Amino acid sequence: MTVQPRIDPHTHTFLRGDEDLSAMRSSGVCAAVVCAFLPVTPSASSSLLDLFTWLDTVERERLVKHDIEPIIALGIHPRCIPPVEDVEPVLDRVRELIDRKRVGAIGEIGLETGSNAEKGVLLRQLELARELQLLAIVHTPRANKSDRLSETLELIDRAGIASSKIILDHLTPELVAALDSDGRDFWMGLTVQSGKTRPEEIAALIQSRGSVHRLLVSSDVSHQPSDPCAVAWTAQRLEALGVDPTVIDRLTSFNAMEALQMTRRSIPRTREPPRRAAPPRSIHRRRGRRASRPAAGARPRRPSPLGPRL
Ligand SMILES: [Zn+2]
Repeated sequence: MTVQPRIDPHTHTFLRGDEDLSAMRSSGVCAAVVCAFLPVTPSASSSLLDLFTWLDTVERERLVKHDIEPIIALGIHPRCIPPVEDVEPVLDRVRELIDRKRVGAIGEIGLETGSNAEKGVLLRQLELARELQLLAIVHTPRANKSDRLSETLELIDRAGIASSKIILDHLTPELVAALDSDGRDFWMGLTVQSGKTRPEEIAALIQSRGSVHRLLVSSDVSHQPSDPCAVAWTAQRLEALGVDPTVIDRLTSFNAMEALQMTRRSIPRTREPPRRAAPPRSIHRRRGRRASRPAAGARPRRPSPLGPRL
């Protein structure tokens, strides 16, 4: 049986064992973004510098061994900010690895409590992403998500970074709808995990929105309860719920490729998804519902280098 390739745009695979990487690959995930994160507060910059070395060497090689294309994202997560005097040495190391083309994105960054320290570190990293023209993967917390998102949007404006260079992650369907009417064109991440988003909610969102434009699905797999196969499992569940397979492919593969500026050639040839002759006429295959217009206030669609936007 052919397994459709998927991309997981937000993981912490280094906190899981080899058996989970095997399961992830067997489920159909052919590329994964590995985001920096420590489950403790670093006592010094050296903790994060060692973490970056771990991700850039051991974890990169481990994913390759499991036939998963690694995309390493480095940055300071709001729950692991080092002492203030140690922030710049950490960002210097990120810059150095970016210069050596070892880093595919800045992440995971964002706000957790919304403290001034968090805001300062986030702003500095958004400015770095703008300067280096790199994608920034921006976390939103479980608590006070809407307030933290509003504060994050203010910092994005201050940093002057293009919305196309931002993934706003761990969003709820309600926040996706709010961002649709905001007028800016961010990438918007939905995390399938207990206590976050369920595939049924994603199916309902697709139906009400009439599009998967700028939407991404990730596992955020870590040491916390999470499923390394969540992206592939979501694809299966959406198909069972009647969502058109071409729409699912864009949601779980092509949108991430576009956000990360991956070419099809960067995916192993045998993993290349089958080409489809034409875009689907409906989002929901069984219900025969026509692809509806974008939500009110959404930006007009531009041609995508990866084919029709669904
Ligand atoms: Zn994460």
